[in-house]
Amino acid sequence: MANSDSRLTETTQTVVSAERALEMSRRSVLSVMDALAAHICVLDERGVIVKVNRAWREFAAANGGHAELCCEGSDYLVACASALHHGADAVQAGAEEFTFKLKEVLAGRLDSFQLEYPCPSPKLTRWFLARVSRVADADPPRVVIAHDSVTELKLVQETLRRQEAELRDLAASIPGALFRLQVLPGGALRFVYFSPGIERLFGLKPDQACGDGRRLFRRVAQEARSFCRHSLRAATASGMPWECEMKVYSEAGASADWGDFIWVQAKAMVKAESAACAQGAALWTGVLTDITARKQAEVALKASEESFRLFFETMPQGVVYHALSGRITAANPAACALLRLSHEQLLGKSPIDPAWHLIREDGSDFPPAQNPALEALRTGQPVRQVVMGLCLTEGSLVWLQVTATPLFKQGVLSEVYASFEDITELIRTRQELHRQASTDHLTGAANRRHFMERLQAEYGRIQRHPELCSCVVTLDLDHFKLINDRFGHAAGDAVLRHVTLLMRLGTRPLDVVGRIGGEEFALLLPDTSREDASALAERLRLRIEQNPAQYRQFVIPATVSIGISAIVCEDGTAEAALMRSDQAMYGIKENGRNGVSLA
Ligand code: GH3
Ligand code: MG
Ligand code: MG
Repeated sequence: MANSDSRLTETTQTVVSAERALEMSRRSVLSVMDALAAHICVLDERGVIVKVNRAWREFAAANGGHAELCCEGSDYLVACASALHHGADAVQAGAEEFTFKLKEVLAGRLDSFQLEYPCPSPKLTRWFLARVSRVADADPPRVVIAHDSVTELKLVQETLRRQEAELRDLAASIPGALFRLQVLPGGALRFVYFSPGIERLFGLKPDQACGDGRRLFRRVAQEARSFCRHSLRAATASGMPWECEMKVYSEAGASADWGDFIWVQAKAMVKAESAACAQGAALWTGVLTDITARKQAEVALKASEESFRLFFETMPQGVVYHALSGRITAANPAACALLRLSHEQLLGKSPIDPAWHLIREDGSDFPPAQNPALEALRTGQPVRQVVMGLCLTEGSLVWLQVTATPLFKQGVLSEVYASFEDITELIRTRQELHRQASTDHLTGAANRRHFMERLQAEYGRIQRHPELCSCVVTLDLDHFKLINDRFGHAAGDAVLRHVTLLMRLGTRPLDVVGRIGGEEFALLLPDTSREDASALAERLRLRIEQNPAQYRQFVIPATVSIGISAIVCEDGTAEAALMRSDQAMYGIKENGRNGVSLA
């Protein structure tokens, strides 16, 4: 009995200590549960909550709402059912799936599951990961639900997703294409990324272009292919940025017309070590840009420069460029030919160089300072169609018509170009026409109109310089009618030519011999005194008297009556002097002819 009592006591003690140990283990489990950040809840097989941890309680309290449904003793499925009728579609769908799967686990048809679901609070968007599992071999059966907040993870993932989408948008919207390229240690190239723009440039989708680098390179002009590879390897070795321009054909091997290819520029930077890289590979990140328009402009510019150069070299007009100093900086072959100088002689020459001998159309010197190029440099205004006579060393005269045009760079005068053409023929024709218009065609003397112009000019000069003396002489053939009558009109003409010749011989080149009537002549003697004019007239009278004209077999003597007058500024008109000399001449006629009279 004592034995059985002591055995019973032993058994009781064992039970008590076992219960104590069990209680200890239960408490340590509970304290571990309470220490966890996850919200944990233990359900029995009906779904009634048997235990929750501190995190669960606090979450339930903080969220108000269904707090009372989430305590020990309440039916968790009721709480789930209430969630089924609240919240947005995504929340309801999450709750529905969760409830369905939880019931499966409670019924023993499913051991465990986990589900991520949104759980918005009035202020925040939150996500939870629910892990539900049946406790193995538990008696009575127990199901543990653990909720972990994955809001931050979700937010980070969401931010990343948004940033990625933005980057994709950005990559898709830039002109051209972004790319990433690995240069492997052996030098092989592997494209790892292309933005969608690659399709516009190479006609390949990003994944096609990445997957098949050869297909991509087949679009690139042969000469650029090897340059691309070599320069890329060299840049990889040096770490310098890489740049390459290449023709990209619309089809592999197409002909080289515009339209069949575009120009693409690649620019990239290298990153030697990168997580995205194979061991020892260099990672290039860059951009491909369509530069066709720029290239076309370059080609057009080159062509226009070329055609300008051709035009400059072959144009018949001479063109020289003058720097601001006036010195010639460029000259075309026509300029060299027209100015009778070599290119070397012309370059650096200045318009004020004393070696140029330039004259005006009236024969006077062309002042170097008035050279059109210098004028344009001085005023910044174009100087158009100036006629200059260039006296050449061999004695001939070239007439040039010069236009000087100032050139500006950013609004500032930078140089002048002068273009000129040879108008010698034109000037000669003009001079000939003028000579014809001013000359008496029978005798070659100045006609009346021209003589009167010259007399007018001389009268103007005398008015400006009253101290000077110039004279006018009138000369009329005596009884000329008789000559005509006796020898014929043609003989009379011959006498008129003969007398003109004698007048020419007896005067200076600057004197003007004019025929102002049928058989009436006049002389304009600039800078000649009355005495000198009288002496000259007398010599002339005598010479005519002593040198008869000859016409065919006839020797035809002739005499003249001569009147002389000085041109004085008090006259008021140029004609006054001529009228005076006429009167003096008529005096001689009345006194028997063949004489000289000073008015
Ligand atoms: P006077 O001594 O008074 O001047 O007598 P004149 O005969 O010279 O003068 P008049 O005025 O009577 O006659 C001029 C003549 O000159 C008349 C005209 O037929 C002639 N004559 C005028 N022009 C020409 C010409 O171009 N050729 C020729 N052969 N004769 C001309
Ligand atoms: Mg007469
Ligand atoms: Mg007469």
